[in-house]
Amino acid sequence: MEWHIPRSHPRYYSIIIRERLVKAFHEGIVVPQGLIAHGRGEAFDYILGETSHEFALEAERAAVALILLAKKPIISVNGNYASLASHEIVELSLETNAIIEVNLFYRTEDRIAKIEDLLRKAGAKNILGVNCEKTLIPGLESPRGIVCKDGIYSADVVLVAIEDGDRTQALKRIKKKVIAIDLNPFSRTAQSADITIVDEAIRATKNMVKIARELKGLDRRLLEQIVNSYDNRRILMDAFKTIRARLEEASSKGFILEAP
Ligand code: ATP
Repeated sequence: MEWHIPRSHPRYYSIIIRERLVKAFHEGIVVPQGLIAHGRGEAFDYILGETSHEFALEAERAAVALILLAKKPIISVNGNYASLASHEIVELSLETNAIIEVNLFYRTEDRIAKIEDLLRKAGAKNILGVNCEKTLIPGLESPRGIVCKDGIYSADVVLVAIEDGDRTQALKRIKKKVIAIDLNPFSRTAQSADITIVDEAIRATKNMVKIARELKGLDRRLLEQIVNSYDNRRILMDAFKTIRARLEEASSKGFILEAP
């Protein structure tokens, strides 16, 4: 059923995003578990003030530098990420020459084909999905461990978003550098990634497209400086400090601060 959402609604954007996911669910792109995972992300975004904080922007900058330096960077895309940010994902892939791989926790070939189709319609050129040669990541039972041989399996850098912790940790075990977009800094994904972007997936990817346009002309040594001076532990600490500060403010005053 189509609902008319008035633009004047104070949570217009959030409701539109939910509608987008529900539509993708009915189309067989998002699984019901994905809708629940979105709710967990929304809760953290609410606490964080629904904005890209400095710690997120810093992580996004290091992530883009790492992708630009990589030999084979892959953007791993699942149903939620594709339905939220297909255009931004494609732009990021084109700006950085990263390959897009459709890779699903609840894997069916039919869903892979639908997501691939959605991304191609958004302009994806370099994309691996149904027709790639498959192999398994050790430590994950099939079909959760299936990846493309020419994609994630042989990548040096993998960007994941809205991803489960087991899979992130399995990528780390096979020595991939992992960049994770995850609003929950407590999650195993956030805790085990090399670069953790605690930001909403659409905002984060938009920011990264902008940053890629700035950084892609830079000398490799300058990109290496950005990556080498990056400290993910500090970024996670800053994310937790921001959550604590907002909760302290709210608990002492009884109202929430506007996000910066
Ligand atoms: P883990 O397995 O890593 O410990 P988890 O059990 O929360 O964490 P999932 O539910 O599979 O893992 O992953 C979804 C994650 O993505 C959640 O941490 C959620 O906060 C986050 N998330 C959901 N929607 C978004 C979004 N739009 N942008 C960024 N992060 C999101």
